[in-house]
Amino acid sequence: MPSPSSPAGSPSEKRATVPPHPPQKDLLQTSQHDPERQQNTHFSREPLLASAAENIQNLSGPSLLHTVMEAAIDAAEKAGNWGDVPVGAVVFNEDGPIAIAGNEREKRNDPTAHAEVLALRQAAATTGNRRLHGHGLAVTLEPCVMCAGAASLARVSLLVFGAPDLKAGATGSLYNICGDERLPHEIPVLSGFMAEESARLLETFFSLRRHPGP
Ligand code: ZN
Repeated sequence: MPSPSSPAGSPSEKRATVPPHPPQKDLLQTSQHDPERQQNTHFSREPLLASAAENIQNLSGPSLLHTVMEAAIDAAEKAGNWGDVPVGAVVFNEDGPIAIAGNEREKRNDPTAHAEVLALRQAAATTGNRRLHGHGLAVTLEPCVMCAGAASLARVSLLVFGAPDLKAGATGSLYNICGDERLPHEIPVLSGFMAEESARLLETFFSLRRHPGP
């Protein structure tokens, strides 16, 4: 997602001056830092953490995760059929998918048209709310820096991904955007869910590219 330039003195600019330190967060840890919420004096932390834990519980049932990841894999396959790298993403609530998208970078000639960004945009349009608390994001491939940032901006409650991306992954492989406590929102991450199926699509796609048929 294109990042608007920050006005002088904005919180993001101030955060950039904080010396870096390696994030050390366990998977599926609830959000500890959300200044936007903390500034609201109507909230106390206990109900917030309880609500975050409940969201995660509602969103992480194995049968729900299978359903949403299968939908993401279908979307990835479609993307591969039209010539994009086969990656699919689904935004879901406890009842199932509410937005499904495949990678459309080539199709739209748009460097930001990753599956996650398209699914988050669809979900915000569907719910009428750019904040997606209580929703999960399932992706076949570990999100890049842009998409992990978009998930954070959308305030999703859970991120699930299939195959790791050792070259560009930003939720554990190269960076840990979703678990970086310097950022305003942390997201619990469940990694490696249906990883083999997700990776197989990519392997087949790139193998066919290297060895096109007659
Ligand atoms: Zn991405």
